[in-house]
Amino acid sequence: MQRTEDIVELNAITAEAVVLPVATNAGICLDVMRLDKIDAVISGNKWFKLRYYLNEVISLRRKTLLSFGGAYSNHIVAVAAAASRLGLASVGYIRGEKPAALSPTLRDAEEMGMLLHFLNRKEFQRTEDAAFLKELAKHHQDACIIPAGGAGPAGIRGAASIAQYIDMQKYTHVCCAMGTGTMANGLLSATSQGQKICAFPVLKGFENWQPAATASDVPGTLQIISGFEFGGYAKHPDRLLQFMNEWYTNTGIPSDFVYTGKLFYGITETIKAGRFPGGSRILAIHSGGLQGNRSLGKDQLIF
Ligand SMILES: *Cc1c(COP(=O)(O)O)cnc(C)c1O
Repeated sequence: MQRTEDIVELNAITAEAVVLPVATNAGICLDVMRLDKIDAVISGNKWFKLRYYLNEVISLRRKTLLSFGGAYSNHIVAVAAAASRLGLASVGYIRGEKPAALSPTLRDAEEMGMLLHFLNRKEFQRTEDAAFLKELAKHHQDACIIPAGGAGPAGIRGAASIAQYIDMQKYTHVCCAMGTGTMANGLLSATSQGQKICAFPVLKGFENWQPAATASDVPGTLQIISGFEFGGYAKHPDRLLQFMNEWYTNTGIPSDFVYTGKLFYGITETIKAGRFPGGSRILAIHSGGLQGNRSLGKDQLIF
């Protein structure tokens, strides 16, 4: 059996300086931490959020990974790939009725051995209920059940470990996309004094969100910068796709319309609006996961 650390290429992580005239003019440095480079499938933050769950499955000698997600979920396909590489079985509970044709993401997951079950939207909501999870555990006694998106305390601890792969102290601001908030929570717990985590939600509903750690527990602070949701989860008007193409032309960095496209757009606009002080040293986390782009037509993105 492989070690959890050996199923991806952690040495491939880099921090790349991005040359962006709006940033330079404002006296701001912007680096991108390329977590997307660790693997094409167990990409970006997904491996980090999974790592301690994977260690747990191995140490408990369980045989199956079980988790939840949508038809284009970066998390689901990452779970399938991690299981396959570690010699484990995997089960995915997928949101929505079984479609006539599987999405490319689900096809890949199935090819890697994942057993797919489909739950309609109402049933899927129950996957967060304790009673439902208890029932599920009874049916899958040799499985470790991983919350959707790799959330939960083990996911937060895993996301915090992102900071061990970079000199995070160099930066005044660390920017990340926000889906469940697990990555933002993890990064916040890894901050140093005075450092700010800027989390850009990719869906609405974070108005009253509270981080897992209380302010007195962590040295840094969390700021939620909303307004770049583009209408909601996975919504992708032309303006966003256009920006992603421009960003790729200018930086050579690919992004996806669900997460990092909105993040890079949000950072650019926030710099333009003068909301980062001059002299800021910003680290943007490229959290990987380009699955959503596979739902687009062929000519919509240039990468
Ligand atoms: C899942 C995912 C996120 C969201 O992370 P959370 O911890 O759920 O906030 C961000 N970026 C990418 C590329 C993802 O796949």
